[in-house]
Amino acid sequence: MRVFPNLFAAMVPSPSPPTTEWIALPGHGYHEVIVDSPGHSDNPADFSQEHMMLLLQAYKDRYSHYCCLDDVNYVSIFKNWGREAGASLSHSHSQIIALPIMPPLMKREIDAISAAPFCPFCNIVMREISSARAIAENGSWVQIAPFYSQVPYETWILPKSHISNLMEMDERQHCDLASLLRDALRRMRDLLNNPPYNLMIQQIGSGYHMNIRIHPAITKIAGFERSTGVFINPVSPEQAAAEIRGA
Ligand SMILES: [Zn+2]
Ligand SMILES: [Zn+2]
Repeated sequence: MRVFPNLFAAMVPSPSPPTTEWIALPGHGYHEVIVDSPGHSDNPADFSQEHMMLLLQAYKDRYSHYCCLDDVNYVSIFKNWGREAGASLSHSHSQIIALPIMPPLMKREIDAISAAPFCPFCNIVMREISSARAIAENGSWVQIAPFYSQVPYETWILPKSHISNLMEMDERQHCDLASLLRDALRRMRDLLNNPPYNLMIQQIGSGYHMNIRIHPAITKIAGFERSTGVFINPVSPEQAAAEIRGA
C-alpha cells in the first residue's frame, strides 16, 4: 500500500489566485491517492482481513495527519470504483482531499445534530438494527439500507457506539469494521455483478457519529435530481436489504 500526492490535484497547498471577476476561494488544500493494493486487477471485494485492516489503518493515519492542520476544516476520504463511478484509474485506489472549509452537506448534518435532543445516528442504529432494512451486524458495527436511500442498493455502515472519527476506534472496532466492510463489498459485488460504486467515510473531529456510505452507481443522476436535490430511487431500501442479505 502506498500513499502519495495526487498528480492531478483538485486542491493544492499553494493555489494560484482565483479569478478577479468573481468572489471565489482559492483551491487551497491537499489531495492524496492511496494505492489500495499491489495487484493491478485486485478487487477490494477480495481483500483479506489483514489487507482491509491495513487499508483502514492508512485511512486513519492520513486522517490524523490532516485533521489537526490549521488550514484544514474537513477531510474527505472516499473511494471511486469503476469508470461510471468516476474512477479514472482501474487500479484500486482511494483518495483523500483536505479542505479549508466545512462542506455544505456536512454543515447541514452538523446543524441538524446540534439542534436534535439526541444523536440522530445513535437513534438510527438503535431502531434500524431490528428493522427490515438491517443487513448485517457484528460486535461493534451495523450495516443497513437507510430508509432515506438516495440510490438503489445504497448501504450505510455505522458504529454501534458514538465515535466521531476513525481515530477514536479501538482495536476491536478496527477489526470488526474490516470484517463488516469486506462482507459488504463481497455481497455487493456478487449481487450486482461488480458494480461501479462510491464509498465515502463521513467523519469530523468531534460531536459527530461517523459513518460509511456506499452508493452503487447503477442509475444515472439526471435532470430532476440535479434541479431539485431530490432523488428518485426505484428500489425500496427494504427490497435492497432483503436482496443483499441473501447474497
Ligand atoms: Zn496498476
Ligand atoms: Zn451517535
